[in-house]
Amino acid sequence: MPADHLFRNSIRIVIALIAFGLFRIDLVVGEDSQRPNFIIIFTDDLGYGDLGCYGHPTIRTPNLDRMAGQGMRFTQFYSAASVCTPSRAALLTGRLPIRSGMCSDSRRVLFPDSAEGLPQEEVTLAEALKAQGYATACIGKWHLGHHPEYLPTRHGFDTYFGIPYSNDMRPCPLMRNEEVLEEPAEQATLTARYTEEAIGFIKAHRDEPFFLYFPHTFPHVPLFASDRFKGTSKRGLYGDVVEELDWSVGQVLEALEECDLGDRTLVVFTSDNGPWLTQSERGGSAGLLREGKGSTWEGGMREPAIAWWPGQIGAGLVSGSLATTMDLYTTCIRLAGGEVPSDRVVDGVDISSVLLGDGTATPREHHFFYRGSTLQAARMGPWKAHLITRPGYGGTVQKHDPPALYNLEVDPSEKYEIGEEHPEVLAAIAGLIEQHREELTAPPSRLERRVGAGE
Ligand code: MG
Repeated sequence: MPADHLFRNSIRIVIALIAFGLFRIDLVVGEDSQRPNFIIIFTDDLGYGDLGCYGHPTIRTPNLDRMAGQGMRFTQFYSAASVCTPSRAALLTGRLPIRSGMCSDSRRVLFPDSAEGLPQEEVTLAEALKAQGYATACIGKWHLGHHPEYLPTRHGFDTYFGIPYSNDMRPCPLMRNEEVLEEPAEQATLTARYTEEAIGFIKAHRDEPFFLYFPHTFPHVPLFASDRFKGTSKRGLYGDVVEELDWSVGQVLEALEECDLGDRTLVVFTSDNGPWLTQSERGGSAGLLREGKGSTWEGGMREPAIAWWPGQIGAGLVSGSLATTMDLYTTCIRLAGGEVPSDRVVDGVDISSVLLGDGTATPREHHFFYRGSTLQAARMGPWKAHLITRPGYGGTVQKHDPPALYNLEVDPSEKYEIGEEHPEVLAAIAGLIEQHREELTAPPSRLERRVGAGE
């Protein structure tokens, strides 16, 4: 009967729709469970030699040591600048700071009287991951513009909790999203409060892919540790502060394990720039590396870096592959199933072959060392050529023609200049620099204009 036939057909359609619906749901869940979460923990002014697993004799970092034991520890991992603002711009855009205008020779970072910040045209890692359906949060120090239009909430982060610039700039407020919560921020409680926020975010988003950008305020001076850590380290207040950061990392890893997210979450721990050596005991250590914060010697830009992703990254691996913070941008976007912007130069390369392999792959072969908008050195393979050298702060500028050449695999402390023996290497690096300069377009600096200074 036609009515019966119609009824049967309707049932079939309903069943097909339900089945398709379920299939769709399954597909979406399937996609989500395969897309990893990302957590980038970014300390401020921590040196290459400041962690137990990087050889510090008295600072205790059991949680970071465990993270390295279960994951991959890098020995040649770089930031893209030796001071805060440009370093953060590079991490979040995958681009050298010169490309976004987030660097300057005269004002090296943003200040409370700065008028600008990270330009809206930049595609931040948070924006790229949001486009892939990720929940995003920034917890900690921003330092890419404190006026509303430059805050994390305008750059792809769903939520923000932290300080908008360095903790030595006054008055330094604590903000939630675009509101000031506290001014000045009560600094001794910051690490603990950030950690609580981070754990809350992880737990709230355990069922969807998320990106947590976690740039700590410390160990940038002035140093503050909570009562629980103050006076407990043999390394003095600096050690107390680093040991509290280590505790925080342990809390984050434990929260992931509790939520059963360990095998679905890539956690990277690194630092924005080297130790602030002119702060004497209040500053950290670059270990065997030369100089520190502010400098394009290795101590200014080579960072401790640990990547953790149980089941995906092999346990206890040490990688000597060249890698940078900018590579995290490209790598995370690719792992999330996205594409890096194709309408601009992106300097980050995909280092998943390093992370997911045995740590010996070499997707990156060179790195450029800028101070402000001036190229001071370039690395190619094991070789680094300095065009200009100077201490991080003060001192005299020394120009080198021909450039001063070092083999970093043999001489990580940059003690022995060997350019005369290797003219062919100097010629190859000159070619690399020429090519870099030819393709470079540098917009005006965003760091120089001050509020009230006019156009
Ligand atoms: Mg810094």
